[in-house]
Amino acid sequence: MNTPCKLLQVVPHDTLFLATALKAAYSPRNFSRRSVEVEGHDKFVGLHSARFRIRAHAAEWRFIGGLVLVSRFHLMTPHRVGIIGGSGLYHIEGFTQQKWRKVTTPFGPPSDSFLTGELAGRAVVFLPRHGRGHRILPSELNHRANIWALKKFGVGWIISVSAVGSLQGRYRPCDIVLPNQFVDRTKKSLEHTFFGRGIVAHIAFADPICEELRQLLLQTCRALGARVHDGGTYVNMEGPAFSTRSESMTNHNLGYDVIGMTNLGEAKCAREAEISYATMAMVTDYDCWKADEAHVTVDMVIANLQRNAAQAKEIVQRVLPQIPAEPNCSCHRALQNAILTDKKLWPAKTKTALRPLLQKYYSRPASP
Ligand SMILES: [Zn+2]
Repeated sequence: MNTPCKLLQVVPHDTLFLATALKAAYSPRNFSRRSVEVEGHDKFVGLHSARFRIRAHAAEWRFIGGLVLVSRFHLMTPHRVGIIGGSGLYHIEGFTQQKWRKVTTPFGPPSDSFLTGELAGRAVVFLPRHGRGHRILPSELNHRANIWALKKFGVGWIISVSAVGSLQGRYRPCDIVLPNQFVDRTKKSLEHTFFGRGIVAHIAFADPICEELRQLLLQTCRALGARVHDGGTYVNMEGPAFSTRSESMTNHNLGYDVIGMTNLGEAKCAREAEISYATMAMVTDYDCWKADEAHVTVDMVIANLQRNAAQAKEIVQRVLPQIPAEPNCSCHRALQNAILTDKKLWPAKTKTALRPLLQKYYSRPASP
């Protein structure tokens, strides 16, 4: 039994999507003399109505003839945390209000539907990277669609949980590496950017991982007594076949730390989308450079994957409450000085496709 509520004036601050008149509904349960809480949907952003919760204090609303007139409100919708990982990572105790949500994107289909809900006091969105049932090859991943959809969900941070091979003896199976660098061995750079089609941008990528988020993961891993390694270079190969022994030996000799097939494209797209991104690389095996290593069996890898998944869940749950409420590190301003094309020249189609990324710059100069 919701009553229509009309918002007379809005306070845009960091929530551009609310900078429009909107229709909402309030729940009488949250209606008191001191404040009113309003829940609703905003259709302004297009494809998916954004859910929001706002609170207006006593002086800021009036109840007139079945309408709540709000003159000023405080947005209560917390910025979401995205978690990309294997199917099953989201089978976590305490993960409430679960809802699978399908998203259509201008970049094609994402890996799967997105599982939204609340965990450890935070609004979260899970994406099974390879789709439920593991149906998508690493090189088939549509990173742009995945990240675009997460941006659309209001995600400010992404924790990427990924299986990797170890390139150095010190990283043992079931260890966790928190890389701070990538080496790109893919041939997919055009698919790792939202830009092109009339809008040129060059983001800074010298430090491809969000250091703030990485440090939070590091502290959490240490607090839980996990075998964790601070920093390292993640070589992103394309796959799907694993490295030849010669390639693996080369990566080992170059001093790289772990090897995987997925994180670089995600990290690039996340940076362009101004989402803070950090990788939790879970070691499953020693790649093939290590001649003295006992032959890896499928059983061993699966056992390690399962142990890793249990550990990853615990870490995710513990790190969530430590993530700041407001996105405010340099990752969240990555496009500020990155767009070269004059705003007046942005093609309408590209501008529409990139709306979740660019809308905050609509009213500002595109470049300094
Ligand atoms: Zn950051």
